[in-house]
Amino acid sequence: MSKASRIVAVVNQKGGVGKTTTAVNLAASLAAAERRTLLIDMDPQGNASSGVGVHPKGVHKSVYDALIGRASLGEVASPTAVRNLFVVPSTQDLVAAELELVDEADRAVRLRDAITKVQEDTSYDYILIDCPPSLGLLTVNALVAAQEVIVPLQCEYYALEGLTHLMATIDRVRAGLNPSLGVKGIVLTMFDPRNNLAHQVANEVKNHFHVFESVIPRNVRLSEAPSHGKPALLYDVSSKGAQGYLSLAREILGGDAATS
Ligand code: ATP
Ligand code: MG
Repeated sequence: MSKASRIVAVVNQKGGVGKTTTAVNLAASLAAAERRTLLIDMDPQGNASSGVGVHPKGVHKSVYDALIGRASLGEVASPTAVRNLFVVPSTQDLVAAELELVDEADRAVRLRDAITKVQEDTSYDYILIDCPPSLGLLTVNALVAAQEVIVPLQCEYYALEGLTHLMATIDRVRAGLNPSLGVKGIVLTMFDPRNNLAHQVANEVKNHFHVFESVIPRNVRLSEAPSHGKPALLYDVSSKGAQGYLSLAREILGGDAATS
């Protein structure tokens, strides 16, 4: 029996808040800390896949094939340029999965079951799941498969409204298919310390949720790295963005070591 993984979903139904940037760079940072890490792209946009250098045209089998039972996750996972980091890519096909699974009784547990199987023969320390900007079936599959959720949050006016809705969805999943699902924390992304509203929103969020001490600043290197198909730590490790995610990984590893 292989060692159990920590399975973490990166979720926020709001678009463009830094989910994929967080999933890719946190996964790369955990891998750099010698943790064998699997990044699963659950978004048909495929940004996490291309962010680690996997281009949709070169993908023969994707997470879609694993969800519909045509392949195992192990067959679909491939290594990346970062040692210890593996990726299960997605393509546009994944849009069809929501429709194809709609009448299947086990549609919400497909990812969980696929992860359980891959763990029988491959051991990962961390499995990170990048979610699409919706609370549909793909995100629900991620919430059912995960033990914990990380929520990237951009400190702007409507951020909290979205959080309430997200937490209600997490509560529903907890009441049904995944009673032990926990919220690991909120990570503040694209943070601009000169913006007063950003500080106000950050303080408000801290009143209600666990917020990671590591804050990800707005940093152009983080937005440039994906066009080179690289996590920021391969593109410019000294950048504030890459350092922010390395710090987040250290914080998570410290917390996980304390609880295991
Ligand atoms: P979607 O909801 O479409 O999946 P997302 O939540 O995954 O979006 P990202 O794709 O990670 O968000 O980020 C949105 C955009 O902001 C991207 O162009 C990304 O490169 C950029 N970005 C993310 N984080 C930062 C940052 N800290 N500094 C600068 N740019 C960033
Ligand atoms: Mg994304």
